[in-house]
Amino acid sequence: MYDEPIYNLIRAFKKLPTVGARTAERFVFHLLRSGKKDVAEMTLALKQVIEHIKSCETCCNFSSTSPCNICTNPKRDRTKICVVAQPQDVVVIEKVGIHNGVYHILRGTISQDFEDKRNSIKIDDLCKRITEEEVTEIILALSPDLPGETTMMFLEKACKKIRPDIAVTKLARGLPMGSDLQYTDDMTLESAFTNRR
Ligand SMILES: [Zn+2]
Repeated sequence: MYDEPIYNLIRAFKKLPTVGARTAERFVFHLLRSGKKDVAEMTLALKQVIEHIKSCETCCNFSSTSPCNICTNPKRDRTKICVVAQPQDVVVIEKVGIHNGVYHILRGTISQDFEDKRNSIKIDDLCKRITEEEVTEIILALSPDLPGETTMMFLEKACKKIRPDIAVTKLARGLPMGSDLQYTDDMTLESAFTNRR
């Protein structure tokens, strides 16, 4: 078997999504071969992320400031909250430049083990915002797959219960069923956003 430090690093890599034992081993031996400079660079980058990136107290995005740049930008329309599953979705939507409001990042979706999941994603934080802020529209921009649809259905009910006057919209059907928001091309995303209802 491997020496303990090697084994420990393999175990750490295996915790990453989509990384199995073989890939984790490949990563570790790649690092061992690549020398101290590369490893030091990676160690520093990891340290900086751990020390400087926090969760935005408003939108739950990862940012070096809390509240983040989008939440504090006076040009953003605070009455429109676009709800996404992952921080990467914000980057995709910002790139298209179709949304001038703010965001709420759930950090996941509701899956079958419903009751447990509710607490692990940022639904209560969103409900709190709807209660306390002057929100007029919630744009549900989750991927149109089963977990995304389940989460959007749940959120629509939850939002309407707190504020029946609020508009809850979903991206238009331009996005193919089962597709991932992060891999949608700009034009499709723009049209899905514009034609939301
Ligand atoms: Zn924020």
